[in-house]
Amino acid sequence: MQYDAVIFDLFGTLVANFTIQEHERVLSEMASVLSAPRDDFVRLWLASFNERCTGKFESPAANIEHICQALHLSVPPEAVEAAARIRFDFTRRSLTPLPGAVETLERLKASGCKTGLLTDCSPETPMLWPDTPFAPLVDVPVFSCVERLKKPDPRIYLRLCKRLAVEPQACLYVGDGGSHELTGATGVGMSAVLIRAPSQTGHDALRIDEEQWDGPAVATFDEVLVSSTQRK
Ligand SMILES: [Mg+2]
Repeated sequence: MQYDAVIFDLFGTLVANFTIQEHERVLSEMASVLSAPRDDFVRLWLASFNERCTGKFESPAANIEHICQALHLSVPPEAVEAAARIRFDFTRRSLTPLPGAVETLERLKASGCKTGLLTDCSPETPMLWPDTPFAPLVDVPVFSCVERLKKPDPRIYLRLCKRLAVEPQACLYVGDGGSHELTGATGVGMSAVLIRAPSQTGHDALRIDEEQWDGPAVATFDEVLVSSTQRK
């Protein structure tokens, strides 16, 4: 039997995770245009992950200003804007679909299944989302920075279910296992499957709070489609 809805994680699932090297290169570039000490800037950027993902900053510029204040730097608005643009462009590039991701959403929709997105992300992601090929194929996207809640808080899963008008037990959650998202999903009654595409197994992917998971796992989107028909 088919699940009523399949809910996808974004980074590491529908799009690639950032690599640590690329992320550091981008942060170095931002520090450089701000004339900020690189290591301190990187440290404070990484330390503000939770705040960035739960809506404390309404834009990348606000996040950058917060860090500059913490470093007692007086930075001209043009430099803040330039650094924000670097971050924005990085996120835009990061939102490139992994091979098979768009087709999988199309096939799920064609089969009558609802689709959802649940992502821990910073404010650029919801700003850029409408221009991605995913937007017309995802019935309800839920962004942590908009909800001011991140995975694995049960409330963010339940909000998505409510907006999709589905019961958690009728949902399959698919993710690469960051932010304890899989046990968060099963905790509210969803089924969950870990996706680990071969291109994602490199040691250089930036993974946040990756969880140990001994539940079902797949390596391809085709297997996700099979899993979507195996409702328990
Ligand atoms: Mg992920």
